[in-house]
Amino acid sequence: MKFSREQITDAVKEAYSKCVNIQEGANADYIPYLKNIPSDLFGIAVSLPDGTVVEEGDTGYIFGIVSVSKVPTAILVMNQYGPDILMDKIGADATGLPFNSIFAILLEKDHPSTPLVNSGAISACSMVQPVGDSNKKWSVIHDFIQKMCGSELGVIEELYRSESETNFNNRSIAWLLKNFNRIYDDPDLSLDLYTRQCSLGVTARQLAVCAGTLANNGTNPVTGDRLYPQEYTSKIVSLIATVGFYEHTGNWMYTAGIPAKTGVGGGIMAVMPGDFGIAAFSPKLDESGNSVKAQAAIKYIVEKLGVNVYGCR
Ligand code: GLN
Repeated sequence: MKFSREQITDAVKEAYSKCVNIQEGANADYIPYLKNIPSDLFGIAVSLPDGTVVEEGDTGYIFGIVSVSKVPTAILVMNQYGPDILMDKIGADATGLPFNSIFAILLEKDHPSTPLVNSGAISACSMVQPVGDSNKKWSVIHDFIQKMCGSELGVIEELYRSESETNFNNRSIAWLLKNFNRIYDDPDLSLDLYTRQCSLGVTARQLAVCAGTLANNGTNPVTGDRLYPQEYTSKIVSLIATVGFYEHTGNWMYTAGIPAKTGVGGGIMAVMPGDFGIAAFSPKLDESGNSVKAQAAIKYIVEKLGVNVYGCR
């Protein structure tokens, strides 16, 4: 391992104490459940290739995985169809627009552009086999996300209900995809699967293990399960580096230098291929829907360790 457990532990502890008092941001409020989560929660976890996980703060609190779930489902589609078909049917481009943009769908002529924004993620859910069988599709998705995280995950029923009752924009996206032949199963069924996967509860520790699996080229470092062929790692990490922070991904990569995927539940999962996976969680978000404290903590850790996916510091 490039970094010792002590080096990582020091970096995580320092990141926690430097960032714990940051006050900026606000909980997501467009999904009622998220508005009511205690805003001061803050946890950081780092998963290492030897299977250890270094943790600090509220790393056992269960929060909504939301958009971070788009990553495992994209991998599942790669596993079922291969990366070329994912590229052909969904794409690998940045949208340069917010995660739920309808405009982005209208701008792309032939596919939703990336499985890591809402349109492409709903499309990815539509592709999951067996097409047409909602229950079986759900158990395949649920099982795969659990395996990436290394332990069992349950749906936060209140979050599922809350999002299902208010997801009018996502309903428009699903049917617009249908209009352009970019969805490959029933639109309502596909949207429901997407909403359910977003409602899975995870801890920062579990999300770190998911990131650690990516950093470890597809083998979960805790369970030892091989979850996708090694050669898919560069594909999935490139998707994350391209659009993990939506319209601000360029800014993030420029300032942090580590591919990362955010979610409006307050979680961010970051991957340093070959070295480690980080998850940080704190509910208060910036105006684009990215956790303020989690961003600061991840930046602190990579800077402290002197790593950057594009080269040395
Ligand atoms: N389920 C949420 C939505 O579709 C996920 C958004 C996010 O985390 N960026 O609005």
